[in-house]
Amino acid sequence: MSRRRQIYEGKAKILYEGPEPGTIIQYFKDDATAFNAEKKGTINGKGVINNRISEYVFTRLAHIGIPTHFIRRLNMREQLVRQVEIIPLEVVVRNVAAGSISKRLGIEEGEMLPHTLLEYYLKDDALGDPLVAEEHIACFNWASHEEMQDIAAMAIRVNDFLSGMFAAVDIRLVDFKLEFGRIFDGDFSRVILADEFSPDNCRLWDMTSGEKLDKDRFRRDLGGEEEAYQEVARRLGVLSGEDNGPGEVLDMDAHRSRLRTPPPSKPKK
Ligand code: C5P
Repeated sequence: MSRRRQIYEGKAKILYEGPEPGTIIQYFKDDATAFNAEKKGTINGKGVINNRISEYVFTRLAHIGIPTHFIRRLNMREQLVRQVEIIPLEVVVRNVAAGSISKRLGIEEGEMLPHTLLEYYLKDDALGDPLVAEEHIACFNWASHEEMQDIAAMAIRVNDFLSGMFAAVDIRLVDFKLEFGRIFDGDFSRVILADEFSPDNCRLWDMTSGEKLDKDRFRRDLGGEEEAYQEVARRLGVLSGEDNGPGEVLDMDAHRSRLRTPPPSKPKK
């Protein structure tokens, strides 16, 4: 079998040349990294679940008019996407304080932010993805003013839509990271949503219990990351398909009862 040409290997995905010009195949790995790859590990089955969740989210976003790079899922771990010129920014949207904003500004984790915050980080592993201001983006020409307007408008729409989508399955969308890319049509270019949307790049808290259902389980050594990712997929209804027998779906309840619940005592007579 002829092997496809690998274009790039990232921390959680590999990109291969697609079957037609202007297309790319995204392969989702089980590898997990945190703290700029200082912590490394694997989350079994993560790639399969993230491929499905990202397909679902990007498809729903396309339905509300957000242009995305997603074309179609090819198999368990791969999806066909449009090739883009990636804009070197990580766009973080925050609804609730958590993670780096809590650390940097001393805001207690879990505090609702007075309004949704948009932050931009430069995509540069060697520099540790530093927070940058819009002035830096304009000064160094990482994106034009018009592109930044489109990006901000799309990020806010994505947040509104996904906050509702997750709330409907009892999950709070705390924060998330998006990446955007340019596609060209003659002399014109347009910004579309790229990369992925999965529990690897968002924070999802169970609305009732507050339990974390995202990569913080791995970052903070909480355990149960496989079950958490599966739980998100199960609630979104993306793991009930033909190629996932019920035996493959673990859920958080099962995990919790294995971890914490003592064996049931015999009923008293
Ligand atoms: O670490 P921090 O609190 O800034 O992360 C904000 C959000 O962006 C989290 O949902 C995190 O998973 C995501 N993120 C990411 N990739 C990064 C940095 C943050 O997906 N390089």
